[in-house]
Amino acid sequence: MKQYSRQILYKNIGESGQRKIMDATVLIVGSGALGSVSSEMLARAGVKKIILIDRDYVEASNLQRQTLFTRKHAAEKTPKVVGAKERLLEIRPDLELDTYINHCDAPLLEALAAEADIILDGTDNFDTRLLINDVAYKLNKPWVYAACVEASYSSCGFMPGVTPCYRCLVPVLPATTLTCDTAGIIAPAVQMAVSEQVTTAIRILTGQFEAPHYMRIGDIWESEHRRFGIDQMKEDSCPSCGDNRTYPALDAPADQTMKLCGRDTVQVMDDRISKEAVDKVISKLGVKVNKTPYFSEFYYEDTRLVCFNNGRILIHDTDEMSRVRTLIDRLFG
Ligand SMILES: [Zn+2]
Repeated sequence: MKQYSRQILYKNIGESGQRKIMDATVLIVGSGALGSVSSEMLARAGVKKIILIDRDYVEASNLQRQTLFTRKHAAEKTPKVVGAKERLLEIRPDLELDTYINHCDAPLLEALAAEADIILDGTDNFDTRLLINDVAYKLNKPWVYAACVEASYSSCGFMPGVTPCYRCLVPVLPATTLTCDTAGIIAPAVQMAVSEQVTTAIRILTGQFEAPHYMRIGDIWESEHRRFGIDQMKEDSCPSCGDNRTYPALDAPADQTMKLCGRDTVQVMDDRISKEAVDKVISKLGVKVNKTPYFSEFYYEDTRLVCFNNGRILIHDTDEMSRVRTLIDRLFG
């Protein structure tokens, strides 16, 4: 408990609050900027277990704000959850940690969420947020949203049976098509988003998530910080938290080929692709290959293919879906 003495001294935590924190399992979806900062803060706060899921690997442009990663991780293209695990276990060797190098689809998210006391969104992806929201309201788990771009941030806690859900709030959310890859971001905006997010998580875990509930938004560059009450915003007709729930994001067909926002990259998941099939293609093409414990990387027709061992492929240097489908058919058809 010595490690947590200053947190226990704080009047709203105390020893009983600390015990609740140390009993908690947290699922963090995404190990980029938001997930780096939130997983480190929660590990240091003393949670029992963290479950991490992320589909990407570390690149040099991540290092400015993704605090768990180093130059070595970027040089070796270490999967983000692997780099995160290294650092988190240095900080907290007693932390229980499960990591998944996966795309976050509905079946995986439902399975992982079932074990968690709370879910934190670190995706910065609208569709995945709707999926987290549906899973959370179906399984009766609280979740905390966070987002940031440029110098702006927002965060909000959602609890089934207590607050409206994220889908109820979508019409009033600040509309933006900006992403970190197109408009940029400064690290303090990440820290602000996660400070709000983790504080909300700790309030929920220690049983102090009383009304009124707020969405918090701000701009750290302008030093502008606002909040608006959400308790009156529940929609009775909402398909995720209303009277007749259908959880539409859970039933949406899993997208097998998708553009990764702003990355000039397309992700492909296809039943024909396996580690063995990739090895076969590589030997047939006779191309030079960079093999790591997690993926094989090679160049083909001006694109760079990163083939993860579970059959998922990231195709870099293109965002043309039809071109990618043709290319995959040619290689694996
Ligand atoms: Zn709702």
